[in-house]
Amino acid sequence: TTPVETLEFQSEARQLLQLVIHSIYSNKDTFLRELVSNASDALDKLKLETYRDKDLEADTSDLHIALEVDKENRTLTVRDNGIGMTRDEVVGLIGTIAKSGTAEFLRKLKESQDAAGSQDLIGQFGVGFYSSFMVADKVTLVTRHAGAAEGVRWESGGEGTYTIGPAEDAPQGTSVILHLKPADAEDRLYDYTSPAKLREVVTRYSDFITWPIRLAADPVEPADDAAEADAEPAKPETINSMKALWARPKDEVTPEEYSEFYKHVSHDWSDPLETIRLHAEGTFEYQALLFLPSRAPLDLFMRESKRGVQLYVKRVFIMDDCEDLVPEYLRFVKGVVDAQDLSLNVSREILQQDRQIQLIRKRLVKKVLSTIKDLKNKDAEKYATFWSEFGRALKEGLLSDFDNREAILDVCSFPSTHDAEQPTTLRQYVERMKDGQEHIYYLTGESRTSIENSPHLEAFRAKGYEVLALTDPIDEMWVDSIDGFDGTRFQSIAKGQVDLDSDEEKKTSESERAQREKDFATLLSRMSTTLESEVKEVRLSSRLTTSPACIVGDADDVTPTLEKMYRAMGQ
Ligand code: ADP
Ligand code: MG
Repeated sequence: TTPVETLEFQSEARQLLQLVIHSIYSNKDTFLRELVSNASDALDKLKLETYRDKDLEADTSDLHIALEVDKENRTLTVRDNGIGMTRDEVVGLIGTIAKSGTAEFLRKLKESQDAAGSQDLIGQFGVGFYSSFMVADKVTLVTRHAGAAEGVRWESGGEGTYTIGPAEDAPQGTSVILHLKPADAEDRLYDYTSPAKLREVVTRYSDFITWPIRLAADPVEPADDAAEADAEPAKPETINSMKALWARPKDEVTPEEYSEFYKHVSHDWSDPLETIRLHAEGTFEYQALLFLPSRAPLDLFMRESKRGVQLYVKRVFIMDDCEDLVPEYLRFVKGVVDAQDLSLNVSREILQQDRQIQLIRKRLVKKVLSTIKDLKNKDAEKYATFWSEFGRALKEGLLSDFDNREAILDVCSFPSTHDAEQPTTLRQYVERMKDGQEHIYYLTGESRTSIENSPHLEAFRAKGYEVLALTDPIDEMWVDSIDGFDGTRFQSIAKGQVDLDSDEEKKTSESERAQREKDFATLLSRMSTTLESEVKEVRLSSRLTTSPACIVGDADDVTPTLEKMYRAMGQ
């Protein structure tokens, strides 16, 4: 057989481990949440695999998670009899960090010098399995992939290398053995060899896990000097209620329970911003428990970014990242949909065609959008957080989800000349429109400052007309393709002839204008000739107040920013 080898952690993994060991979270209890969460995922995966692959030689007769304490040797073992890992998986999943954005995260962490800032960053990143090293100075992992003949034994002190080798009699699934750090004399709060402590932590963080979590009950201590051998061997006892949160009545679930469930499904370490529940009865029954996170994941705009909704059928986990349940622009929504009438064998291909799934998706989208609208109307602070984290993703929907365009536009907000700090919603903009103002005016550009300094703004400033400053590249793309908001058209102030004068003003200025055209005729024709190869036309403008000249595009020209984007895309 293969001998035991010593291997190095990938460098990002090593850096992350150093952080876990040396700085780290104030709340160590979370390590157990992470290990239980992984064990639960492993049981879900095995269950699913046995539906898919009838020949898989796996034992699914008593799927569960076990916590075992050895007081004498100060170890705590978290064991599951789930899918397990192959040697390659252990090296790939435990020895490296595949999470996209890790390098970026580590760089930010290095830059943020203050301790509070880095605590905050770490809390946002989440360290999964590595959180074991908050409480253990050595971790042994023994695992055997369901159906495999031989197991794998992995061990590390978290300091840069690990050993990996075969494990002879490994049972199916994974055991994580934590060699706990020496007891902190002054802090009995963190005694993970105490069954009472474990019970408390599991109840707080993992009660909803749908698999039994068993703990060997406190051994009956023999009375004073009776022989040790008389102590009864501990009988395991299930310590979680196993109740799926989404199946419990709404008002019976506490915000803390929702929060912990969110952390389990999202692998996020922060609390969610908002919880959404949906329940459909009748011929086609399903329940949904969804969340808006409070922070955007690092990979929100990366190609491999996944969708966050899991599909269950009658309480059985079917798949992660269910693309048919939410559109891409809502990929940040996390949670669970549990459908009662689908087959457990359902595959991605079948889902795509499934009418029920399409109906659920429609309903979820409406519900998410209406939740965002409620935030906007009732909780300005939460809405502002939501918008700054996810607004850019949501705006993609303006280009892809035509049925919900109005609803999406209604919850969008944009920087505007009305207020230097606060973005405005379109409704607020429309309410502020001046008498005689016909359009929603906007200017696109790379940054707020470049827009603020644009000569195009001058006439609008003078008139007191508000202008939206659209700085996201995506704005260029939807704003052209959209009719307007609630009957009011969008109009770029950098394109075509913008006529700001009222009919009244037009009449009085008509003769004046004719006079000016005459006065400047020579200059205009000279400039036209000189700039022939650069511009189509030179004309007098009423849109400037202090700048002498500006460049405008034709009404149907692509804007400079869009032109840059096309060029960057190689078109
Ligand atoms: P995450 O759970 O966010 O993916 P973790 O660091 O917690 O990150 O775990 C990394 C990976 O290691 C998991 O995605 C899973 O593939 C694997 N893993 C961890 N624990 C177990 C386990 N008990 N059984 C099977 N695989 C596991
Ligand atoms: Mg995990």
